[in-house]
Amino acid sequence: MYQKNRKGYLVVLSENALISLVLSSLEAYAIEKRGARGKNRKGLETYGSIYGQQILLADGRTLFRVEMAQTDTTARQTTESVTFSEEAISLKRAALAAYWPHLDYLGDFHSHPYATLQEARSCEGYYLSEEDRACLTGNWKQLWKDLRYRLGLLVTVAPMKRARESLSWWDGKALNCLQFNIGNFRLWISAFCVFEDSGKGRYTEDHDEGVELSAPALTGLIGEHSPFGRYKNGAFVLAAA
Ligand SMILES: [Zn+2]
Repeated sequence: MYQKNRKGYLVVLSENALISLVLSSLEAYAIEKRGARGKNRKGLETYGSIYGQQILLADGRTLFRVEMAQTDTTARQTTESVTFSEEAISLKRAALAAYWPHLDYLGDFHSHPYATLQEARSCEGYYLSEEDRACLTGNWKQLWKDLRYRLGLLVTVAPMKRARESLSWWDGKALNCLQFNIGNFRLWISAFCVFEDSGKGRYTEDHDEGVELSAPALTGLIGEHSPFGRYKNGAFVLAAA
């Protein structure tokens, strides 16, 4: 379960999950949240859980299908961190297992808000922080392993001075990070798969070439996940195995 899959990982986001990730991150970024002692704050991080299925592909890769992303409304949000509730994760996971068992708990998402595009770029803020990685390793045996935590998604938000038209879907060196624009917001979504190493949970690396994030609702059907075949001379011919 927790051995690193050397063949690699494919993470596929449903349109529904994509929309939830975008809305939750934008709301936390741009809308002022009323605090208990009159402190109103925005530019906050958000946190939530992701649900779907794990499938073994014919080529040996592990597919994580993210059907749903759901904001944890009890998470404590700040501008630099977000603290989740273990009870909230467990409650929702149990409710899904009881009534909607096809929605298996896969892991979580959180956001990184930045003041400018330049700031996000200069620190490569669309990758996990050391604290993010330490949280997984530090709580591995007590929490994450029991939950069967397998996937972390990160949504990064930064406003631009003006809306820009076109850009490549991939900014980074690997396929685990997608970028896109919503108005004059730049967003990145990146995926990190989890494995156990020396008894500790670890995320795949920032530029791990074995992790591909696919969001067809965003990019359209780009490329083939396995060779399809071609229709020619009046017949369809499968690709050679
Ligand atoms: Zn983080």
